[in-house]
Amino acid sequence: MGLPRFGRPIDGKSSPNLYVANCGPAVGLSFNTIATVFSTFGEVIGVYAADESGTRVIVSYVEESSAQAALKALNKRPCPDLAGRFLHIQYSIVQPPKQVLTNDSIPVSLAAKDLNIPGLYLWPEFITSAEEEELLASVDDMPWKTLAKRRVQHYGYEFIYEVNEYPSGVGLSPHIDTHSAFDGLIFSLSLAGPCIMEFRRYTDGAWLQKPDLDADSKEENSDCGSNFVRRAIYLPPRSMLLFSGEARYAWHHYIPHHKVDLVKDNVIKRGSRRVSFTLRKVREGPCKCEFPQYCDSQS
Ligand SMILES: [Zn+2]
Repeated sequence: MGLPRFGRPIDGKSSPNLYVANCGPAVGLSFNTIATVFSTFGEVIGVYAADESGTRVIVSYVEESSAQAALKALNKRPCPDLAGRFLHIQYSIVQPPKQVLTNDSIPVSLAAKDLNIPGLYLWPEFITSAEEEELLASVDDMPWKTLAKRRVQHYGYEFIYEVNEYPSGVGLSPHIDTHSAFDGLIFSLSLAGPCIMEFRRYTDGAWLQKPDLDADSKEENSDCGSNFVRRAIYLPPRSMLLFSGEARYAWHHYIPHHKVDLVKDNVIKRGSRRVSFTLRKVREGPCKCEFPQYCDSQS
């Protein structure tokens, strides 16, 4: 992966991305350490090498206000948590790279349109931090149902895992939400920690013979296995993901369990806890989608 090009800021224009000089692996500061220190000012999306010097990095925040707070606190003064180094910080107006690579060589996109999966949409910052806190507090007041690797709460209808292709005990292995059970739009709101979601489009017929892969499996090491193509997206907290059309009916999706968010010169921090709200509408009548090969109503 080529290094991103970061320009200097124009007219002191503020940005969620900081260009930080006198900081980096060549002066003994790992990307993880840098991410941890800068995280005290807000959620860090990633830390990137600004160039090949090893002494200049880009710290990319979700929110511009976090970058402002970090610049104010850390610029042009010795930072005790970073070996007392004297940092020189400016806003960087150029966006961080659109993709980073995970340990198993999957490029992870930061925007849904870069995945080229028709019908998949992502809205970052769909809710505010205050709304997020409110939602987390309210779910923690409700009883959880414990599955093998995660806990769930159901609202409206009970989801019967035993009769669905999404069985308990395997966490989020690759699956398509059953066509006959749910309507065409599925929304997923991410709270608390970020995660990476992966997608697979199997070549016709191949998915029927697919081995029952656990999501921890690392046997495929490219974005194009022998019988499927593979894509990945970063889901930040407070973002809303929409599955519709081909994304909903024909792509398997899953969340890998392994914590592989550091690769090459980029680190993406993953929180210990992620809560997601999945909103589905119960279907009335059979599914009439354009993907009969994946459709339990039409098979
Ligand atoms: Zn269908």
